[in-house]
Amino acid sequence: MNEKLIIVGGGISGLTAGIYAQRSGFQTLILEKCATPGGISTCWKRGGYMFEGGVHWLNGSGEHLDLNKVWKEVGALKENNPVYFKDPVYVLKNGKAQLAIWRDADRTLQELSAYSPRDRKALRNIFRDVRMFKYFQSPVEGVTGIMDYIRMFPAICVTPRLWMQSIKHYLSRIKDPDVRTLMEAVVAPVNNAMTFAYTLSGFFTGDSGYPSGGSLRMALNMADTFREAGGEIRYNTAVEKVVDGGVIVNGELLKADAIIVTVDARTAIDKLFEKPLQDSWARRMRRLLVTSQTVFVGVGVEADLNAYPKSMVFKVPFKDGGVDIPFFVVSNYARDKYSPEGCTTLTALFPGYSYGYWKAAREDGTYDEKKKAVAEKFIGILEEQIPETKGKIAVMDVATPVTYQRYCDTYEGSYMSDWLPATLTTNAPNRYRKGLYFAGQRTAYSGGLPPAVISGRLAARLLCKDFKHKFI
Ligand SMILES: Cc1cc2nc3c(=O)[nH]c(=O)nc-3n(C[C@H](O)[C@H](O)[C@H](O)COP(=O)(O)OP(=O)(O)OC[C@H]3O[C@@H](n4cnc5c(N)ncnc54)[C@H](O)[C@@H]3O)c2cc1C
Repeated sequence: MNEKLIIVGGGISGLTAGIYAQRSGFQTLILEKCATPGGISTCWKRGGYMFEGGVHWLNGSGEHLDLNKVWKEVGALKENNPVYFKDPVYVLKNGKAQLAIWRDADRTLQELSAYSPRDRKALRNIFRDVRMFKYFQSPVEGVTGIMDYIRMFPAICVTPRLWMQSIKHYLSRIKDPDVRTLMEAVVAPVNNAMTFAYTLSGFFTGDSGYPSGGSLRMALNMADTFREAGGEIRYNTAVEKVVDGGVIVNGELLKADAIIVTVDARTAIDKLFEKPLQDSWARRMRRLLVTSQTVFVGVGVEADLNAYPKSMVFKVPFKDGGVDIPFFVVSNYARDKYSPEGCTTLTALFPGYSYGYWKAAREDGTYDEKKKAVAEKFIGILEEQIPETKGKIAVMDVATPVTYQRYCDTYEGSYMSDWLPATLTTNAPNRYRKGLYFAGQRTAYSGGLPPAVISGRLAARLLCKDFKHKFI
């Protein structure tokens, strides 16, 4: 008899852990609270328009990267989901002038320097740092070799300096507000500057594309891979507690020889065990964790906006819905056919710690009204910036941190951690003890899908080691 494994959560980390564990000989059951796989990396439909509520760029989509092998092994990237690489990556318009980040670093540097000659030197220095990350990649245990680490040496050398400062501070040497805003659009400026250099480098080196079927297609593909290997997924099934020898569902014990918890670890340490975990890492996580939160707004427009760029930086302040930001990015899905013929889906993310605002609105009964106000404000800005949208909004939808918390129980509705300057890990360990493992976004740095897939794979490796299975 194969050992029984239960995985709590069918997000990207849970599906990954399940695929490798099932292939390696465990009889694996994934229990997922929601009706679909993928967790917070998902898409949904409103009135014929599909909203992408997860991946905006995928690290490891470049074929040359170790992580790409993993995405293929788990079936996330298949023919039904070909990756494309938007170019330009971001565009900012100021009246008639337009500036862009292109896939070509030299062209970008040249154009930005021509737009703002007084920033020539600052830009050259920033691009020099970014180029140090040319060979940097998320290491994958058992795949990334010694030569890969040697190639990453230049990035490792500049990392301490970049890690010590915030992106906002790092980019403050750029004097031109348009150029600075465009660069700040790459990663939330509260994060450390290493995350900026790494991300921008990914765009320049042929990584960070968009899987054209979207987040949900990726997750459905992974769920298929898991089932084809013989695993079982139960949707609409919330685990109440993880106990010795199994998990409690609907008051009953489901027995297992091993458990992998992939629920947001910050939620899990307080809620998922018989008593809140008090290990030193759990206490540190409670004390130091800084979450990334966002308000998502999507609209369906009865107009073909194919002539507009894929990612537009609107240098327009947005102060509502618990956020107060000087600019935001609008994603244009005209090319992705996420809408009826001749129409377009547009979405925007408003980053900021807005959970408290939305939680209070939920409690005082003003939640729906406040969501509507945010959507209407967004539509007002859209109509000024893209005249074709005027009077053409067919559907709108807003998701807040409270939405993410309600569906996926992420801590304060966050979708990853902000990685602040000069801060060390607040992660959970992948192996808690023999038979109990953690995976997911809060078990590896930095944020997003790479830590989810890498930690899911690692949890399965550690499980195999403990139970003396060959990892496949
Ligand atoms: C708007 C948005 C944009 C993003 N953009 C990007 C991007 O461009 N690039 C990138 O790399 N990342 C991006 N991310 C982040 C990325 O999607 C997440 O970091 C990643 O999906 C986290 O995966 P996970 O498996 O760790 O966690 P989750 O997705 O949270 O998975 C945990 C699963 O556990 C389930 N669960 C919770 N409690 C229980 C329970 N008690 N019982 C059973 N199941 C339970 C949840 O429903 C969920 O399915 C974005 C996220 C959002 C929301």
